[in-house]
Amino acid sequence: METILIPAEQVKVAAEADVCVIGGSCTGVFAAVRAARLGARVILVEKQNRLGGTASCGLVSMWHSVFDATGTRQVIGGLTFEMMERLERCGGIGNFRTPAEFNIRLNSELLTLELDALVEEHPNIRLFLQTSFSRAVMRAPGEVEAVIAENNAGRFAIRAGAFIDASGDGVLCRAAGCAMRRPERFQPPTSCARFEGWKTLGDFNLTAMVEKFRDKYPELPCGYWWGMEVPNSSCYMLAGTRVLHYDPEEADATTRAELDSRRQLRAILEMIRNECRPNRVSLQALPSAVGIREGLHIESRARLKGEEMLAGTAFPDAIGNGTYPVDIHSDGDDSISFRRLNGEAVTYRGGKPVCRSRWLPEGEVLPFYRFTLGSLMPEGMRNLIAAGRMLDADRDAFGAVRVMVNLNQCGEAAGVAATQALEHGADFTKTDCRRIRELLASGGSIML
Ligand SMILES: Cc1cc2nc3c(=O)[nH]c(=O)nc-3n(C[C@H](O)[C@H](O)[C@H](O)COP(=O)(O)OP(=O)(O)OC[C@H]3O[C@@H](n4cnc5c(N)ncnc54)[C@H](O)[C@@H]3O)c2cc1C
Repeated sequence: METILIPAEQVKVAAEADVCVIGGSCTGVFAAVRAARLGARVILVEKQNRLGGTASCGLVSMWHSVFDATGTRQVIGGLTFEMMERLERCGGIGNFRTPAEFNIRLNSELLTLELDALVEEHPNIRLFLQTSFSRAVMRAPGEVEAVIAENNAGRFAIRAGAFIDASGDGVLCRAAGCAMRRPERFQPPTSCARFEGWKTLGDFNLTAMVEKFRDKYPELPCGYWWGMEVPNSSCYMLAGTRVLHYDPEEADATTRAELDSRRQLRAILEMIRNECRPNRVSLQALPSAVGIREGLHIESRARLKGEEMLAGTAFPDAIGNGTYPVDIHSDGDDSISFRRLNGEAVTYRGGKPVCRSRWLPEGEVLPFYRFTLGSLMPEGMRNLIAAGRMLDADRDAFGAVRVMVNLNQCGEAAGVAATQALEHGADFTKTDCRRIRELLASGGSIML
């Protein structure tokens, strides 16, 4: 491969803090807030113009239940629950207080406003929006001294004691020299979209329509879809595109994902316009970034393994609990497979169940599973932790842990762990998991 040398450059140090967080989805915001609430001075860097990541910029506006799979106790608290309460006050969330409601609908725009307010309530968080992380400056192998960021004011350095990579893609981890792992197959990206007038379609079924009109509109997506009415709005959010064979290591892969998924959306709109008359459907919003389900994973000190997680293991370094099923979208066709905590395993193709079995003995239910701090700690790194979908999990564990109510908890744990690292010479490897769990619990997280 041909390469080019980047000349050395002197850049100003524009900001200094105890903790620097790269990426401002709820994962990154919650990391920043938990560190700030424990007294740290925090810098939060987000490349988009708003906080919320996939939930706002990607229009993916669905969280999941905070109750266990038996509906008898709450297993997720902390900032996820706080944010749900905040959204409830402004009408931006569906019913999250009843265990029977598993899918919790959000309003992405109100989430953005509440995230702004949450950050602004913490004067020790300094936020940089429309600012991209680009490089890491290393003090020694495994030790980050500063990050280089860029915005319309130019290129500058941010110096900190501890760093949290909440970029989803693991951009800081990669730049800092962490070993990264490709999964066997990447779960495929999807662009969501919001529509007005969706109800005028009646009982519209995208899978059936795609099957019927595939030849007439060849750019139609593969046929798997889900959607929801957005609370406090007249819009419908549709997740109906799928970009097959995405490879995040190709320089233009995300560009292709943006264009392919928007071409699929154009085909859906054209089909609706021509084949579902009369209707009053109009496109109301496109995401400002395609939704990436999976990219590279860090090589951590302790990979999260599906077999252990789904056995309900009480890991000593557990930092969160989840009930979302193992949910794997195929990157080669429209199939999707679930392993639900009620013990049921189902694979759907063309929207129809094609294979049903049980992965748990008849009558058995897994109330919830736990995930770990070790899977966020990049091997060989001293003052850097990862939080988000780049965490180190095998295919099954990732299929479950990858949803937002779970990654939010990873963010909170990373924020608390960063404050503990600072007490040990900015060294995450010296932190005490028991203490981190205690601090998480005293800040509202549920530790089981
Ligand atoms: C279509 C789709 C549907 C899904 N459905 C659901 C669902 O219904 N419910 C659910 O809970 N989960 C769902 N998921 C999964 C979930 O949305 C993601 O796994 C999760 O949001 C990832 O969170 P994250 O914080 O790791 O990354 P992201 O949400 O991607 O956030 C990363 C943030 O870092 C920022 N960033 C990246 N690079 C830089 C940089 N260089 N400098 C500065 N900032 C940077 C990004 O702009 C972004 O704000 C879905 C995913 C997709 C794609």
